[in-house]
Amino acid sequence: MKFHVLTLFPEIPRAFFESSIMAKAVEKEIIAYDLVNIRDFAFDKHKTCDDSPYGGGAGMLMLPEPLDRALESVKAYKKRVIYVTPSGKPFTQKLARELSKEEELVFICGRYEGIDQRIIDAWVDDEVSIGDYVLSSGEVAATVMIDAIYRLIEGVISSESLEEESFSTGLLEYPQYTRPEVYKGMKVPEVLLSGHHENIQKWRLERQLAKTLAYRPDLIDEARRTGELSLEAEKMIETITGQVSKVCPRKHPRYRGKEK
Ligand code: SAM
Repeated sequence: MKFHVLTLFPEIPRAFFESSIMAKAVEKEIIAYDLVNIRDFAFDKHKTCDDSPYGGGAGMLMLPEPLDRALESVKAYKKRVIYVTPSGKPFTQKLARELSKEEELVFICGRYEGIDQRIIDAWVDDEVSIGDYVLSSGEVAATVMIDAIYRLIEGVISSESLEEESFSTGLLEYPQYTRPEVYKGMKVPEVLLSGHHENIQKWRLERQLAKTLAYRPDLIDEARRTGELSLEAEKMIETITGQVSKVCPRKHPRYRGKEK
């Protein structure tokens, strides 16, 4: 997989590509990257890359021509092009999985008030937001996306690590503990020391459900909708909340066909 990052500040993503697991993936040639400085494609001697927006308003906008030339230089017309923007669709683990299957990705990092709409119309396949807040530039957003995508590529980290983490099963991850058994008077839950695999799995599912209900009830609704929530999970939800599930177990996708 190759990442092309078009930016006015290549030093920001460079630190990421040159560090830790990403640096190893680059060394192993699983990942390649290309940091393209948009300023190198400016026309005038001052290397101007921004101007005020038509119709007035605060701030400056990135000029279309330098960006257009930068996109041509990486042959973006043959690749999937992403513009990171707070007005895009939300970035999710599902989208990260989808993008990890591409051979090359081009990221446009905005600055100032963003980029000229005609660049979006002519070049961009996906406008993507990393959250409902506004950053001062796109480099951090593109790096967040690249981080979530590249670790899903085979050979970067073990597939076991990916299997049980947050969102992989539609729920948030369960709490985890390591040595020592007692830390500042706080004990590791007994069940995790029992060696009883089935009980550990039950405890973990129950903790996952409790955490997801507290922080992200929308994920529970989505897991129900897609049939990812087992009957065991539905029963646990009833115990945790003290409420009967909104889904009748008999209508649950996992239940169908199991009636006598
Ligand atoms: N005027 C824009 C708006 O209101 O939607 C905000 C521009 S922001 C100050 C500058 C750049 O930061 C954007 O062009 C974009 O590339 C990046 N950016 C800011 N917040 C982001 C977010 N939540 N997700 C992705 N990119 C973001």
